[in-house]
Amino acid sequence: METNSTLRIALQKSGRLTEESIGLLRQAGMKFDSYKGHMIVPVQNFDIELLLIRDDDIPEYVQDGVCDIGFVGANVTAEKNAKVTVIRDLGFGKCRISVAVPKGGVYKSAKALDGTRIATSYPFLTKKYFEDNGMTVETVFISGAVEIAPRLGVAEAVCDLVSTGGTLKANGLVETDVIFSSESQLIQTNKPISAEKQELIDKFLLRIGGCQLAQRSRYIMMNAPKDSQKEILSIISALKSPTVLPLADENMVAIHSVVPINQFWTITEKLKSAGATGIVILPIENMIM
Ligand code: ATP
Ligand code: ZN
Repeated sequence: METNSTLRIALQKSGRLTEESIGLLRQAGMKFDSYKGHMIVPVQNFDIELLLIRDDDIPEYVQDGVCDIGFVGANVTAEKNAKVTVIRDLGFGKCRISVAVPKGGVYKSAKALDGTRIATSYPFLTKKYFEDNGMTVETVFISGAVEIAPRLGVAEAVCDLVSTGGTLKANGLVETDVIFSSESQLIQTNKPISAEKQELIDKFLLRIGGCQLAQRSRYIMMNAPKDSQKEILSIISALKSPTVLPLADENMVAIHSVVPINQFWTITEKLKSAGATGIVILPIENMIM
Protein backbone atom coordinates (compact mmCIF):
# COMPACT_ATOMS: atom_id res chain seq x y z
CA MET A 1 0.00 0.00 0.00
CA GLU A 2 1.20 3.49 -0.79
CA THR A 3 2.51 5.45 2.15
CA ASN A 4 4.23 8.78 2.45
CA SER A 5 7.54 7.08 2.99
CA THR A 6 7.32 5.09 -0.25
CA LEU A 7 9.77 6.39 -2.84
CA ARG A 8 7.89 6.99 -6.07
CA ILE A 9 9.72 6.72 -9.39
CA ALA A 10 8.14 8.00 -12.62
CA LEU A 11 8.89 6.44 -15.95
CA GLN A 12 7.45 6.45 -19.45
CA LYS A 13 4.64 3.89 -19.68
CA SER A 14 5.23 2.96 -23.29
CA GLY A 15 7.76 4.47 -25.65
CA ARG A 16 11.39 4.81 -26.53
CA LEU A 17 12.61 5.22 -22.96
CA THR A 18 10.52 2.51 -21.31
CA GLU A 19 12.56 -0.62 -21.95
CA GLU A 20 15.91 0.86 -20.95
CA SER A 21 14.51 2.57 -17.85
CA ILE A 22 12.90 -0.70 -16.72
CA GLY A 23 16.14 -2.54 -17.55
CA LEU A 24 18.19 -0.21 -15.34
CA LEU A 25 15.75 -0.64 -12.44
CA ARG A 26 15.94 -4.41 -12.71
CA GLN A 27 19.73 -4.33 -13.09
CA ALA A 28 19.89 -2.24 -9.93
CA GLY A 29 18.21 -5.15 -8.17
CA MET A 30 14.57 -4.06 -8.02
CA LYS A 31 12.06 -6.87 -8.27
CA PHE A 32 8.61 -6.25 -9.72
CA ASP A 33 6.02 -8.05 -11.82
CA SER A 34 5.10 -7.13 -15.36
CA TYR A 35 4.54 -3.41 -15.66
CA LYS A 36 2.61 -3.50 -18.94
CA GLY A 37 -0.89 -2.13 -18.65
CA HIS A 38 -0.36 -0.98 -15.05
CA MET A 39 -0.03 2.59 -13.90
CA ILE A 40 1.33 1.85 -10.44
CA VAL A 41 3.70 -1.06 -9.90
CA PRO A 42 5.02 -1.87 -6.41
CA VAL A 43 8.65 -2.92 -6.08
CA GLN A 44 8.71 -6.07 -3.97
CA ASN A 45 12.06 -5.76 -2.25
CA PHE A 46 12.24 -2.00 -1.55
CA ASP A 47 9.83 0.62 -0.26
CA ILE A 48 9.47 1.92 -3.80
CA GLU A 49 6.65 2.14 -6.33
CA LEU A 50 6.84 2.85 -10.04
CA LEU A 51 4.44 5.24 -11.70
CA LEU A 52 4.07 4.60 -15.42
CA ILE A 53 2.84 7.68 -17.26
CA ARG A 54 3.33 9.67 -20.49
CA ASP A 55 6.81 11.16 -20.68
CA ASP A 56 5.33 14.67 -21.10
CA ASP A 57 3.87 14.48 -17.58
CA ILE A 58 7.05 13.34 -15.83
CA PRO A 59 8.87 16.69 -15.31
CA GLU A 60 5.81 18.32 -13.72
CA TYR A 61 5.03 15.31 -11.52
CA VAL A 62 8.62 15.39 -10.24
CA GLN A 63 8.62 19.18 -9.90
CA ASP A 64 5.43 19.03 -7.83
CA GLY A 65 6.72 16.19 -5.67
CA VAL A 66 4.02 13.75 -6.82
CA CYS A 67 7.00 11.58 -7.76
CA ASP A 68 10.38 11.82 -6.06
CA ILE A 69 12.50 10.93 -9.07
CA GLY A 70 11.85 10.21 -12.73
CA PHE A 71 13.38 8.91 -15.93
CA VAL A 72 12.84 11.40 -18.76
CA GLY A 73 14.48 12.96 -21.80
CA ALA A 74 16.31 16.25 -21.18
CA ASN A 75 14.29 17.63 -24.12
CA VAL A 76 11.01 17.16 -22.24
CA THR A 77 12.29 18.62 -18.95
CA ALA A 78 13.65 21.64 -20.82
CA GLU A 79 10.47 22.16 -22.85
CA LYS A 80 8.33 22.03 -19.69
CA ASN A 81 10.82 24.41 -18.06
CA ALA A 82 10.51 22.24 -14.97
CA LYS A 83 12.35 23.20 -11.79
CA VAL A 84 13.95 19.87 -10.89
CA THR A 85 17.48 18.61 -10.22
CA VAL A 86 19.22 16.38 -12.75
CA ILE A 87 20.90 13.65 -10.71
CA ARG A 88 22.28 11.44 -13.48
CA ASP A 89 22.68 11.47 -17.26
CA LEU A 90 21.71 8.02 -18.45
CA GLY A 91 23.33 7.82 -21.87
CA PHE A 92 20.36 6.39 -23.79
CA GLY A 93 17.52 8.08 -25.71
CA LYS A 94 19.99 10.31 -27.51
CA CYS A 95 18.39 12.72 -29.95
CA ARG A 96 18.36 16.40 -30.85
CA ILE A 97 15.93 19.18 -31.60
CA SER A 98 16.78 20.88 -34.87
CA VAL A 99 15.56 23.55 -37.22
CA ALA A 100 14.87 22.19 -40.72
CA VAL A 101 13.90 24.07 -43.87
CA PRO A 102 12.54 22.98 -47.29
CA LYS A 103 15.40 21.74 -49.46
CA GLY A 104 16.41 24.19 -52.15
CA GLY A 105 14.07 26.87 -50.80
CA VAL A 106 14.71 30.51 -49.94
CA TYR A 107 15.53 29.81 -46.29
CA LYS A 108 19.00 28.34 -45.83
CA SER A 109 19.40 28.44 -42.06
CA ALA A 110 17.77 29.55 -38.80
CA LYS A 111 19.32 33.01 -39.24
CA ALA A 112 17.03 33.65 -42.21
CA LEU A 113 13.85 32.73 -40.35
CA ASP A 114 13.19 35.98 -38.46
CA GLY A 115 9.47 36.81 -38.66
CA THR A 116 8.44 33.42 -40.11
CA ARG A 117 6.19 30.65 -38.81
CA ILE A 118 7.86 27.57 -37.32
CA ALA A 119 5.93 24.33 -36.84
CA THR A 120 7.03 22.52 -33.69
CA SER A 121 6.12 20.26 -30.78
CA TYR A 122 8.60 22.30 -28.74
CA PRO A 123 7.19 25.85 -28.74
CA PHE A 124 8.99 26.92 -25.56
CA LEU A 125 12.47 25.83 -26.67
CA THR A 126 11.90 27.07 -30.22
CA LYS A 127 10.80 30.54 -29.13
CA LYS A 128 13.64 30.73 -26.64
CA TYR A 129 16.24 29.75 -29.27
CA PHE A 130 15.11 32.42 -31.72
CA GLU A 131 14.76 35.03 -28.98
CA ASP A 132 18.23 34.26 -27.67
CA ASN A 133 19.47 34.86 -31.22
CA GLY A 134 17.67 38.19 -31.53
CA MET A 135 14.78 37.00 -33.70
CA THR A 136 11.03 36.68 -33.33
CA VAL A 137 9.10 33.78 -34.82
CA GLU A 138 5.53 32.59 -34.63
CA THR A 139 5.35 29.02 -33.38
CA VAL A 140 2.66 26.77 -34.83
CA PHE A 141 2.10 23.93 -32.37
CA ILE A 142 1.77 20.49 -33.94
CA SER A 143 2.04 17.41 -31.74
CA GLY A 144 2.83 14.80 -34.41
CA ALA A 145 4.10 14.73 -38.01
CA VAL A 146 5.52 18.23 -37.74
CA GLU A 147 7.50 17.63 -40.94
CA ILE A 148 4.53 18.01 -43.26
CA ALA A 149 3.73 21.57 -42.09
CA PRO A 150 5.78 23.43 -44.76
CA ARG A 151 4.16 21.36 -47.54
CA LEU A 152 0.74 22.18 -46.14
CA GLY A 153 1.67 25.86 -46.15
CA VAL A 154 1.11 26.32 -42.41
CA ALA A 155 4.74 27.14 -41.63
CA GLU A 156 7.94 28.13 -43.44
CA ALA A 157 10.17 25.79 -41.42
CA VAL A 158 10.05 23.20 -38.63
CA CYS A 159 11.84 22.71 -35.35
CA ASP A 160 11.58 19.15 -34.16
CA LEU A 161 13.15 16.04 -32.69
CA VAL A 162 15.66 14.36 -35.01
CA SER A 163 17.58 11.17 -34.56
CA THR A 164 18.74 9.96 -37.98
CA GLY A 165 17.22 12.68 -40.14
CA GLY A 166 15.40 10.11 -42.31
CA THR A 167 11.94 11.57 -41.67
CA LEU A 168 13.09 15.08 -42.55
CA LYS A 169 14.66 13.87 -45.78
CA ALA A 170 11.55 11.92 -46.73
CA ASN A 171 9.59 15.17 -46.38
CA GLY A 172 11.98 17.25 -48.49
CA LEU A 173 13.53 19.07 -45.52
CA VAL A 174 17.15 19.69 -44.57
CA GLU A 175 18.40 20.09 -41.02
CA THR A 176 20.20 23.40 -40.57
CA ASP A 177 20.68 24.15 -36.85
CA VAL A 178 20.70 21.96 -33.76
CA ILE A 179 19.00 23.88 -30.97
CA PHE A 180 19.08 21.22 -28.23
CA SER A 181 21.03 17.97 -27.68
CA SER A 182 19.25 15.46 -25.50
CA GLU A 183 19.63 12.19 -23.68
CA SER A 184 17.60 10.50 -20.98
CA GLN A 185 18.20 11.65 -17.43
CA LEU A 186 17.24 10.83 -13.90
CA ILE A 187 15.65 13.88 -12.30
CA GLN A 188 14.80 14.51 -8.65
CA THR A 189 12.24 16.75 -7.05
CA ASN A 190 13.39 19.95 -5.33
CA LYS A 191 10.66 19.47 -2.74
CA PRO A 192 11.94 18.31 0.64
CA ILE A 193 12.05 14.53 1.02
CA SER A 194 12.63 12.33 4.06
CA ALA A 195 16.08 11.06 5.02
CA GLU A 196 14.84 7.51 4.36
CA LYS A 197 13.83 8.35 0.80
CA GLN A 198 17.13 10.15 0.18
CA GLU A 199 18.98 7.10 1.47
CA LEU A 200 17.06 4.90 -0.97
CA ILE A 201 17.85 7.29 -3.84
CA ASP A 202 21.55 7.28 -2.94
CA LYS A 203 21.55 3.50 -2.78
CA PHE A 204 19.79 3.33 -6.12
CA LEU A 205 22.23 5.80 -7.70
CA LEU A 206 25.19 3.78 -6.44
CA ARG A 207 23.74 0.65 -8.00
CA ILE A 208 22.92 2.38 -11.28
CA GLY A 209 26.43 3.83 -11.31
CA GLY A 210 27.76 0.29 -10.95
CA CYS A 211 25.66 -0.91 -13.89
CA GLN A 212 26.73 2.05 -16.05
CA LEU A 213 30.39 1.53 -15.20
CA ALA A 214 30.04 -2.19 -15.93
CA GLN A 215 28.48 -1.45 -19.32
CA ARG A 216 31.44 0.78 -20.16
CA SER A 217 34.03 -1.78 -19.05
CA ARG A 218 35.33 -5.23 -19.97
CA TYR A 219 37.17 -7.80 -17.90
CA ILE A 220 40.37 -8.81 -19.68
CA MET A 221 42.53 -11.89 -19.02
CA MET A 222 45.76 -12.86 -20.74
CA ASN A 223 48.95 -14.84 -20.40
CA ALA A 224 52.30 -13.08 -20.74
CA PRO A 225 56.00 -13.79 -20.46
CA LYS A 226 57.28 -12.61 -17.07
CA ASP A 227 59.70 -10.32 -18.94
CA SER A 228 56.73 -8.39 -20.45
CA GLN A 229 54.82 -8.06 -17.19
CA LYS A 230 55.99 -4.52 -16.46
CA GLU A 231 55.21 -3.24 -19.96
CA ILE A 232 51.79 -4.91 -19.96
CA LEU A 233 50.87 -3.46 -16.58
CA SER A 234 51.76 -0.01 -17.88
CA ILE A 235 49.43 -0.50 -20.89
CA ILE A 236 46.40 -1.44 -18.80
CA SER A 237 45.77 1.57 -16.67
CA ALA A 238 43.39 -0.51 -14.57
CA LEU A 239 40.52 0.87 -12.49
CA LYS A 240 42.23 -0.82 -9.60
CA SER A 241 45.45 -2.74 -9.36
CA PRO A 242 45.52 -5.60 -11.90
CA THR A 243 45.79 -9.17 -10.67
CA VAL A 244 48.97 -11.07 -11.58
CA LEU A 245 48.88 -14.86 -11.10
CA PRO A 246 51.68 -17.42 -11.45
CA LEU A 247 51.33 -20.14 -14.11
CA ALA A 248 52.68 -23.70 -14.27
CA ASP A 249 55.36 -22.45 -16.67
CA GLU A 250 57.31 -20.24 -14.31
CA ASN A 251 58.44 -17.94 -17.09
CA MET A 252 54.80 -16.97 -17.67
CA VAL A 253 52.13 -15.12 -15.68
CA ALA A 254 48.39 -14.58 -16.06
CA ILE A 255 47.19 -10.99 -15.83
CA HIS A 256 43.56 -10.00 -15.14
CA SER A 257 42.20 -6.49 -15.23
CA VAL A 258 39.32 -4.20 -16.13
CA VAL A 259 39.57 -1.90 -19.15
CA PRO A 260 37.30 0.84 -20.49
CA ILE A 261 35.39 -0.31 -23.55
CA ASN A 262 36.24 2.79 -25.60
CA GLN A 263 39.97 2.01 -25.42
CA PHE A 264 39.46 -1.65 -25.81
CA TRP A 265 40.90 -2.20 -29.32
CA THR A 266 43.95 0.04 -28.89
CA ILE A 267 44.73 -1.69 -25.61
CA THR A 268 44.44 -5.21 -27.03
CA GLU A 269 46.66 -4.34 -29.99
CA LYS A 270 49.32 -2.92 -27.68
CA LEU A 271 49.06 -5.96 -25.39
CA LYS A 272 49.59 -8.31 -28.32
CA SER A 273 52.67 -6.49 -29.47
CA ALA A 274 53.98 -6.53 -25.90
CA GLY A 275 53.80 -10.34 -25.97
CA ALA A 276 50.42 -11.12 -24.40
CA THR A 277 48.76 -14.33 -25.64
CA GLY A 278 45.40 -16.03 -25.10
CA ILE A 279 43.65 -12.73 -24.50
CA VAL A 280 40.10 -13.31 -23.25
CA ILE A 281 37.56 -10.52 -22.86
CA LEU A 282 34.43 -10.86 -20.76
CA PRO A 283 31.42 -8.61 -20.21
CA ILE A 284 30.89 -7.41 -16.63
CA GLU A 285 27.47 -7.60 -15.03
CA ASN A 286 27.99 -5.05 -12.27
CA MET A 287 30.80 -3.20 -10.55
CA ILE A 288 30.85 -1.50 -7.19
CA MET A 289 33.98 0.58 -6.69
P1 ATP B 1 4.43 9.48 -24.84
O1 ATP B 1 3.28 8.66 -25.29
O2 ATP B 1 5.02 8.95 -23.54
O3 ATP B 1 4.16 10.95 -24.79
P2 ATP B 1 6.22 10.14 -27.04
O4 ATP B 1 5.61 9.76 -28.33
O5 ATP B 1 6.22 11.57 -26.62
O6 ATP B 1 5.59 9.21 -25.90
P3 ATP B 1 8.70 8.69 -27.64
O7 ATP B 1 8.66 8.76 -29.12
O8 ATP B 1 8.54 7.36 -26.99
O9 ATP B 1 7.71 9.76 -26.95
O10 ATP B 1 10.06 9.37 -27.17
C1 ATP B 1 10.35 9.50 -25.82
C2 ATP B 1 11.67 10.22 -25.66
O11 ATP B 1 12.71 9.45 -26.27
C3 ATP B 1 11.76 11.58 -26.37
O12 ATP B 1 11.21 12.62 -25.62
C4 ATP B 1 13.26 11.73 -26.50
O13 ATP B 1 13.85 12.12 -25.28
C5 ATP B 1 13.70 10.30 -26.82
N1 ATP B 1 13.75 10.05 -28.28
C6 ATP B 1 12.92 10.49 -29.22
N2 ATP B 1 13.26 10.05 -30.44
C7 ATP B 1 14.33 9.31 -30.27
C8 ATP B 1 15.13 8.54 -31.15
N3 ATP B 1 14.88 8.45 -32.44
N4 ATP B 1 16.14 7.85 -30.62
C9 ATP B 1 16.40 7.90 -29.32
N5 ATP B 1 15.67 8.61 -28.45
C10 ATP B 1 14.65 9.29 -28.89
ZN1 ZN C 1 5.50 12.45 -25.06
